[in-house]
Amino acid sequence: MNIKQLTGQNDSHILWLNEHCGIHKDIEHHWQKMCSAALQENLVLKIASGYRSFERQLSIWNRKFIGELLVKNQQGQLVDFNMNSDQEKIDAILLFSALPGASRHHWGTDIDIYAENLLPNNKTLQLEPWEYQQDGYFEPLSQWLNEHSSDFGFYFPYDKYRQGVAAEPWHLSYKPLASSFLSQLSCEQLTTIILNSDIHGKIEIINNIENIYNCYVTNINKEI
Ligand SMILES: [Zn+2]
Repeated sequence: MNIKQLTGQNDSHILWLNEHCGIHKDIEHHWQKMCSAALQENLVLKIASGYRSFERQLSIWNRKFIGELLVKNQQGQLVDFNMNSDQEKIDAILLFSALPGASRHHWGTDIDIYAENLLPNNKTLQLEPWEYQQDGYFEPLSQWLNEHSSDFGFYFPYDKYRQGVAAEPWHLSYKPLASSFLSQLSCEQLTTIILNSDIHGKIEIINNIENIYNCYVTNINKEI
């Protein structure tokens, strides 16, 4: 992968499963195998979000920064951006949204998933922890993935809160490729990309880029 691919500025490594959903071409086989195995257990796996470009991540970031998209804390409460400094806004956004250029969704190895057949007809998918936890409607999915996803090379990089990204029980990663891609992305490269972008909070981000890189990019589950 070259730096443009690693940072979502080129999608030539992506296989498009439909108009909206792309994944890295080399994970498709593993994803399909896992879907077949899950189906045997009555779990219809679906991807809510796969590949995301730099531009798309930048749009999410900037809309959150100016208060156009809502930002929640780990308890699911709205964060009041009128009260916050730029640094506080950045930390609040980074809890659930990656810095553009540093999203694992740029790689196509990482996918947000749910079980279509477990979502009640009158509900829309929220991608919030309660849906996946005990008594949530995706609890059987979480149990199955915890037991079997590693058989297919997948794991949860955000399995628990580590003073960086919040726990994301929907975010799966194809580890053999993703760990290699992570090691190819340096803090210096990220700095250059942010400097050349139209991101809100640029000065504060650049002043804290090493901290962001260490707390939110590399600070993940290292196990499989
Ligand atoms: Zn995700």
